[in-house]
Amino acid sequence: MKANPATDRIIRKMQPGVLTRDGFLGEDDRSLKELTDSDDFAVRKMELTHSGIANRIEYLAEVGRKGYGTPMLYMGAYEITVEEVKGRIACPWGRCGTFQKGTVKIHNVNTDMTIVTTPLGIHMIREHGFYQGKGSPYRLDPYTLRWTLW
Ligand SMILES: [Zn+2]
Repeated sequence: MKANPATDRIIRKMQPGVLTRDGFLGEDDRSLKELTDSDDFAVRKMELTHSGIANRIEYLAEVGRKGYGTPMLYMGAYEITVEEVKGRIACPWGRCGTFQKGTVKIHNVNTDMTIVTTPLGIHMIREHGFYQGKGSPYRLDPYTLRWTLW
């Protein structure tokens, strides 16, 4: 496959210790395109969209933010914990601005499924259709997202 300098630069920034301690790819050895194509397929198959998923996480995070780090129960079904940490982080794609550090944890009481993401993670879903590599601490599997968020 022909090397793509822009993609190479993004991949370099996704390595552990560059933007984050653990990086974004985990032990996933698929190419960035294979990875995003595969997740895109899974998302479409469930009749969801990247922006729809990002909007839903942001909506629930907004509710959770009112707890200032303590879990908030929403509609008796979602336990949401938002922890903000000092500092900001850039997106590996670049030119996207920076994002508040911290985590958003959403536990669905009914399905007993949980996701943990970050403001950057939400941005990467929305703008880049990127759910991070398998084994990455913030990997968001589309199936888990489906059964946590709805
Ligand atoms: Zn970006």
